[in-house]
Amino acid sequence: MSAGNSEGVLPEAAKPAQRYLVPEGTKRFDPRQWPTAPPPDGPRHNELRKLRRRSVRDISRLQRLLYAENRYALLLLFQAMDAAGKDSTINALLTGVNPAGCQVFNFKQPSSEELDHDFLWRTARSLPERGRIGVFNRSYYEEVLVVRVHPELLQKQNLPHLDPNGLWQQRMESIVEHERHLARNGTVILKFFLNISRDEQKARFLRRLDRPDKHWKFAISDVRERGFWNEYMSAYGEAIRSTARSHAPWYAIPADSKPYMRWAVADIVRDTLASLDLHNPEPSLADLAMFDDMRRQLENE
Ligand code: ATP
Ligand code: MG
Repeated sequence: MSAGNSEGVLPEAAKPAQRYLVPEGTKRFDPRQWPTAPPPDGPRHNELRKLRRRSVRDISRLQRLLYAENRYALLLLFQAMDAAGKDSTINALLTGVNPAGCQVFNFKQPSSEELDHDFLWRTARSLPERGRIGVFNRSYYEEVLVVRVHPELLQKQNLPHLDPNGLWQQRMESIVEHERHLARNGTVILKFFLNISRDEQKARFLRRLDRPDKHWKFAISDVRERGFWNEYMSAYGEAIRSTARSHAPWYAIPADSKPYMRWAVADIVRDTLASLDLHNPEPSLADLAMFDDMRRQLENE
């Protein structure tokens, strides 16, 4: 089946924003039960590139209005296992968007300065300003993912009251409150979990080993972390279930097909920006009078 009707508009139920939204309050979300492959009724493979480019053109146009209106910021947060394609998705999404209007931050192992602060500090400093699109490639969610899978990392954090039972729940509460605060103050938050299957990750790692031009992407730690797949999936499941909110929704996007994944993310971002009803600000009467003045001055030069 092809991409909806003759205008290329998908029926609502087939939209990625409906299909891959993790419902707030769900007890059932588990990445292992969630699709990693595109649906059979999605757009045809050879149409995806064109559809994605169309969405990205819309994002670029809407981003100019976001900037002009200067009321909202848009935060796009990406989490995934290695080789799911975070970098290339972010690249595809922002190609053609005015670089002055977006900011991308990659969060890796924290520095000693970062470890000397609470776990939301380093990302809070990198939040997008009003009018901008900010991208987090990994985020504070690592604190309930990699740190939960490897709790020995907590030693470096030097926390005063280490309650290993309550800690993860408390962190997720902090995250929910933090995101609620941001949303109330004009930051629109979209969170993407790029859901790659274990088999596809293996195939991508093997391709990296086969191709000298991809060797730089290969890290021994990637294969080591793969050994903790089930622990990661459990941590992702709980983190996403506990923090899915209407003001900060999670989308779990199938990541085994990169063209489908990139289109799905672009479609959700485009629809979200379109729903903000963005406009160029109307000049005030005083502004209009001042423009008349300026015109006269320039014409009389
Ligand atoms: P790529 O591999 O595509 O370059 P990446 O995001 O995987 O991108 P890496 O440098 O390979 O970047 O890995 C970053 C590592 O940092 C990940 O293993 C991630 O789990 C880890 N990390 C991120 N945030 C934290 C954190 N708060 N505490 C501990 N480890 C973290
Ligand atoms: Mg990596």
